[in-house]
Amino acid sequence: MFFYNVIDYFFNIFMPGRCFLCGSIVYGKSGLCGKCFSEIYFLNRQGCPKCNRPYDLPEEEGKICPVCLTDPPIFNSLRSAFIYNKYSKDLILPFKHADRTDMAPFLGNLLYHTGLEVLEKADIILGVPLHKRRLLKRKYNQAGLLAQYLAKKAHKKYLPNTLLRIINTKTQGHDNAEQRKQNVKGAFLVKDTHVIHGKRIVLVDDVYTTGATLNECAKALYKAGALNVACLTVARVHLQ
Ligand SMILES: [Zn+2]
Ligand SMILES: [Zn+2]
Repeated sequence: MFFYNVIDYFFNIFMPGRCFLCGSIVYGKSGLCGKCFSEIYFLNRQGCPKCNRPYDLPEEEGKICPVCLTDPPIFNSLRSAFIYNKYSKDLILPFKHADRTDMAPFLGNLLYHTGLEVLEKADIILGVPLHKRRLLKRKYNQAGLLAQYLAKKAHKKYLPNTLLRIINTKTQGHDNAEQRKQNVKGAFLVKDTHVIHGKRIVLVDDVYTTGATLNECAKALYKAGALNVACLTVARVHLQ
Protein backbone atom coordinates (compact mmCIF):
# COMPACT_ATOMS: atom_id res chain seq x y z
CA MET A 1 0.00 0.00 0.00
CA PHE A 2 2.79 2.35 1.02
CA PHE A 3 4.60 1.55 -2.23
CA TYR A 4 1.56 2.57 -4.33
CA ASN A 5 1.14 5.77 -2.33
CA VAL A 6 4.75 6.70 -3.13
CA ILE A 7 4.19 5.99 -6.83
CA ASP A 8 1.01 8.08 -6.71
CA TYR A 9 2.88 10.89 -5.00
CA PHE A 10 5.62 11.08 -7.66
CA PHE A 11 3.14 10.61 -10.48
CA ASN A 12 1.23 13.63 -9.18
CA ILE A 13 4.37 15.75 -9.01
CA PHE A 14 5.57 14.97 -12.52
CA MET A 15 2.22 14.48 -14.28
CA PRO A 16 -0.35 16.45 -12.29
CA GLY A 17 -4.04 16.34 -13.13
CA ARG A 18 -5.57 19.36 -14.85
CA CYS A 19 -8.94 21.02 -14.58
CA PHE A 20 -10.82 20.26 -17.82
CA LEU A 21 -12.35 23.75 -17.83
CA CYS A 22 -9.65 26.23 -16.75
CA GLY A 23 -6.49 24.11 -17.06
CA SER A 24 -5.31 24.71 -13.50
CA ILE A 25 -3.51 21.91 -11.66
CA VAL A 26 -5.73 19.66 -9.53
CA TYR A 27 -4.75 16.98 -7.04
CA GLY A 28 -4.98 13.45 -8.40
CA LYS A 29 -6.46 12.69 -11.82
CA SER A 30 -7.70 15.37 -14.21
CA GLY A 31 -11.20 16.63 -13.45
CA LEU A 32 -12.53 19.94 -12.16
CA CYS A 33 -10.93 22.44 -9.79
CA GLY A 34 -13.03 23.66 -6.84
CA LYS A 35 -13.96 26.92 -8.56
CA CYS A 36 -15.11 25.32 -11.82
CA PHE A 37 -16.90 22.55 -9.89
CA SER A 38 -18.97 25.18 -8.08
CA GLU A 39 -20.09 26.68 -11.45
CA ILE A 40 -21.65 23.39 -12.59
CA TYR A 41 -25.35 22.92 -11.87
CA PHE A 42 -25.43 19.31 -10.64
CA LEU A 43 -28.87 17.73 -10.61
CA ASN A 44 -28.28 15.41 -7.63
CA ARG A 45 -31.22 13.19 -8.66
CA GLN A 46 -33.74 15.95 -7.94
CA GLY A 47 -36.70 16.88 -10.15
CA CYS A 48 -39.13 14.81 -12.18
CA PRO A 49 -38.54 11.07 -11.65
CA LYS A 50 -39.35 10.45 -15.31
CA CYS A 51 -37.39 13.14 -17.18
CA ASN A 52 -35.21 14.75 -14.45
CA ARG A 53 -36.65 18.21 -15.23
CA PRO A 54 -35.59 20.37 -12.25
CA TYR A 55 -38.27 21.80 -10.00
CA ASP A 56 -38.35 25.10 -8.14
CA LEU A 57 -41.13 24.03 -5.78
CA PRO A 58 -39.92 21.61 -3.09
CA GLU A 59 -43.41 20.14 -2.52
CA GLU A 60 -43.37 18.91 -6.12
CA GLU A 61 -40.40 16.67 -5.31
CA GLY A 62 -40.99 13.08 -6.33
CA LYS A 63 -43.96 13.92 -8.53
CA ILE A 64 -44.09 13.51 -12.27
CA CYS A 65 -43.79 16.88 -14.05
CA PRO A 66 -46.68 18.34 -16.11
CA VAL A 67 -44.76 17.79 -19.37
CA CYS A 68 -44.43 14.03 -18.68
CA LEU A 69 -48.08 13.86 -17.59
CA THR A 70 -49.34 15.30 -20.89
CA ASP A 71 -46.72 13.73 -23.18
CA PRO A 72 -45.03 10.83 -21.35
CA PRO A 73 -41.63 9.77 -22.66
CA ILE A 74 -41.30 6.31 -24.21
CA PHE A 75 -38.29 5.46 -22.02
CA ASN A 76 -38.97 4.63 -18.39
CA SER A 77 -36.74 7.22 -16.73
CA LEU A 78 -33.91 9.69 -17.28
CA ARG A 79 -31.19 10.79 -14.89
CA SER A 80 -28.57 13.37 -15.86
CA ALA A 81 -25.46 14.45 -13.95
CA PHE A 82 -25.72 18.19 -14.63
CA ILE A 83 -27.50 20.93 -16.56
CA TYR A 84 -26.10 21.84 -19.98
CA ASN A 85 -25.20 25.55 -19.82
CA LYS A 86 -22.45 28.00 -20.77
CA TYR A 87 -20.08 26.45 -18.21
CA SER A 88 -20.77 22.77 -18.63
CA LYS A 89 -20.86 22.84 -22.44
CA ASP A 90 -17.06 22.98 -22.38
CA LEU A 91 -17.06 19.58 -20.68
CA ILE A 92 -19.27 18.11 -23.40
CA LEU A 93 -18.23 19.67 -26.73
CA PRO A 94 -14.49 18.73 -26.64
CA PHE A 95 -15.44 15.19 -25.60
CA LYS A 96 -17.97 14.95 -28.42
CA HIS A 97 -16.18 16.64 -31.29
CA ALA A 98 -12.50 17.22 -30.50
CA ASP A 99 -11.05 13.78 -29.77
CA ARG A 100 -10.91 14.42 -26.01
CA THR A 101 -11.59 10.78 -25.19
CA ASP A 102 -9.36 11.24 -22.11
CA MET A 103 -12.40 12.93 -20.52
CA ALA A 104 -14.42 9.68 -20.61
CA PRO A 105 -13.34 8.34 -17.15
CA PHE A 106 -14.14 11.65 -15.44
CA LEU A 107 -17.55 12.05 -17.12
CA GLY A 108 -18.24 8.32 -16.79
CA ASN A 109 -17.56 8.47 -13.07
CA LEU A 110 -19.98 11.37 -12.62
CA LEU A 111 -22.59 9.42 -14.55
CA TYR A 112 -21.91 6.28 -12.51
CA HIS A 113 -22.81 8.06 -9.28
CA THR A 114 -25.84 9.71 -10.92
CA GLY A 115 -27.19 6.42 -12.21
CA LEU A 116 -26.21 4.03 -9.43
CA GLU A 117 -29.82 3.03 -8.74
CA VAL A 118 -30.63 1.96 -12.32
CA LEU A 119 -27.16 0.56 -12.99
CA GLU A 120 -27.47 -1.86 -10.08
CA LYS A 121 -30.71 -3.28 -11.53
CA ALA A 122 -29.57 -3.32 -15.17
CA ASP A 123 -28.82 -6.37 -17.30
CA ILE A 124 -27.32 -4.58 -20.32
CA ILE A 125 -25.72 -1.16 -20.90
CA LEU A 126 -25.97 0.40 -24.37
CA GLY A 127 -24.76 3.70 -25.84
CA VAL A 128 -26.83 5.65 -28.38
CA PRO A 129 -25.17 4.47 -31.60
CA LEU A 130 -23.72 6.54 -34.42
CA HIS A 131 -24.36 5.57 -38.03
CA LYS A 132 -21.40 3.54 -39.36
CA ARG A 133 -20.46 6.29 -41.83
CA ARG A 134 -20.38 8.93 -39.09
CA LEU A 135 -18.42 6.60 -36.83
CA LEU A 136 -15.79 6.17 -39.58
CA LYS A 137 -15.49 9.94 -39.89
CA ARG A 138 -15.44 10.70 -36.16
CA LYS A 139 -13.42 7.58 -35.19
CA TYR A 140 -15.18 7.06 -31.84
CA ASN A 141 -18.67 7.15 -30.37
CA GLN A 142 -18.71 9.29 -27.23
CA ALA A 143 -21.92 7.65 -25.94
CA GLY A 144 -20.38 4.21 -26.49
CA LEU A 145 -17.27 5.18 -24.50
CA LEU A 146 -19.44 6.25 -21.55
CA ALA A 147 -21.58 3.09 -21.76
CA GLN A 148 -18.46 0.93 -21.86
CA TYR A 149 -17.01 2.72 -18.84
CA LEU A 150 -20.26 2.31 -16.86
CA ALA A 151 -20.60 -1.36 -17.76
CA LYS A 152 -17.08 -2.08 -16.58
CA LYS A 153 -17.51 -0.18 -13.32
CA ALA A 154 -20.95 -1.67 -12.57
CA HIS A 155 -19.92 -5.20 -13.73
CA LYS A 156 -22.64 -5.32 -16.38
CA LYS A 157 -22.75 -6.41 -20.01
CA TYR A 158 -21.90 -3.80 -22.67
CA LEU A 159 -23.13 -4.64 -26.17
CA PRO A 160 -21.83 -2.18 -28.78
CA ASN A 161 -23.41 -3.73 -31.89
CA THR A 162 -26.91 -4.66 -30.76
CA LEU A 163 -28.70 -1.34 -31.19
CA LEU A 164 -27.88 0.11 -34.61
CA ARG A 165 -28.47 3.49 -36.24
CA ILE A 166 -29.62 2.49 -39.70
CA ILE A 167 -30.31 6.00 -41.05
CA ASN A 168 -27.50 8.55 -41.14
CA THR A 169 -29.64 11.35 -39.69
CA LYS A 170 -28.55 14.96 -40.10
CA THR A 171 -27.15 16.79 -37.07
CA GLN A 172 -29.93 18.42 -35.07
CA GLY A 173 -28.27 21.63 -33.86
CA HIS A 174 -31.07 24.17 -34.32
CA ASP A 175 -34.06 21.93 -34.90
CA ASN A 176 -37.09 22.23 -32.64
CA ALA A 177 -38.67 19.30 -30.79
CA GLU A 178 -40.99 18.29 -33.64
CA GLN A 179 -38.23 18.48 -36.28
CA ARG A 180 -35.97 16.37 -34.04
CA LYS A 181 -38.71 13.78 -33.64
CA GLN A 182 -39.19 13.54 -37.42
CA ASN A 183 -35.44 13.51 -38.05
CA VAL A 184 -34.80 10.35 -35.98
CA LYS A 185 -38.02 8.52 -36.88
CA GLY A 186 -37.20 4.89 -37.74
CA ALA A 187 -33.46 5.55 -37.41
CA PHE A 188 -32.74 2.73 -34.92
CA LEU A 189 -32.95 -1.03 -35.13
CA VAL A 190 -32.20 -3.85 -32.70
CA LYS A 191 -30.11 -6.48 -34.48
CA ASP A 192 -30.33 -9.35 -31.98
CA THR A 193 -33.82 -9.15 -30.49
CA HIS A 194 -33.32 -12.34 -28.43
CA VAL A 195 -30.48 -10.61 -26.55
CA ILE A 196 -32.74 -7.69 -25.56
CA HIS A 197 -35.94 -9.65 -24.91
CA GLY A 198 -36.95 -9.53 -21.22
CA LYS A 199 -33.90 -7.48 -20.22
CA ARG A 200 -33.49 -4.28 -18.24
CA ILE A 201 -31.55 -1.82 -20.37
CA VAL A 202 -29.59 1.28 -19.40
CA LEU A 203 -29.24 3.54 -22.41
CA VAL A 204 -26.44 6.13 -22.31
CA ASP A 205 -25.93 9.42 -24.18
CA ASP A 206 -23.89 12.59 -23.67
CA VAL A 207 -26.70 15.20 -23.78
CA TYR A 208 -30.49 15.13 -23.39
CA THR A 209 -32.02 17.91 -25.46
CA THR A 210 -35.65 17.15 -26.37
CA GLY A 211 -35.51 13.40 -25.76
CA ALA A 212 -36.26 12.60 -29.43
CA THR A 213 -33.20 10.34 -29.88
CA LEU A 214 -33.56 8.49 -26.56
CA ASN A 215 -37.28 7.98 -27.18
CA GLU A 216 -36.69 6.59 -30.65
CA CYS A 217 -34.01 4.21 -29.31
CA ALA A 218 -36.37 3.16 -26.49
CA LYS A 219 -39.09 2.49 -29.06
CA ALA A 220 -36.79 0.08 -30.94
CA LEU A 221 -35.70 -1.59 -27.68
CA TYR A 222 -39.28 -2.06 -26.42
CA LYS A 223 -40.26 -3.43 -29.84
CA ALA A 224 -37.49 -6.02 -29.35
CA GLY A 225 -39.06 -7.00 -26.00
CA ALA A 226 -36.99 -4.99 -23.49
CA LEU A 227 -38.47 -5.07 -20.00
CA ASN A 228 -37.34 -1.59 -19.04
CA VAL A 229 -35.32 1.22 -20.65
CA ALA A 230 -33.69 3.66 -18.22
CA CYS A 231 -31.66 6.52 -19.72
CA LEU A 232 -28.54 8.22 -18.36
CA THR A 233 -26.99 11.34 -19.86
CA VAL A 234 -24.09 13.43 -18.63
CA ALA A 235 -25.85 16.73 -19.34
CA ARG A 236 -29.46 17.86 -19.68
CA VAL A 237 -30.75 20.96 -21.43
CA HIS A 238 -32.81 22.81 -18.82
CA LEU A 239 -35.99 24.23 -20.31
CA GLN A 240 -36.99 21.53 -22.73
ZN1 LIG B 1 -11.04 24.97 -13.18
ZN1 LIG C 1 -40.91 14.95 -16.44
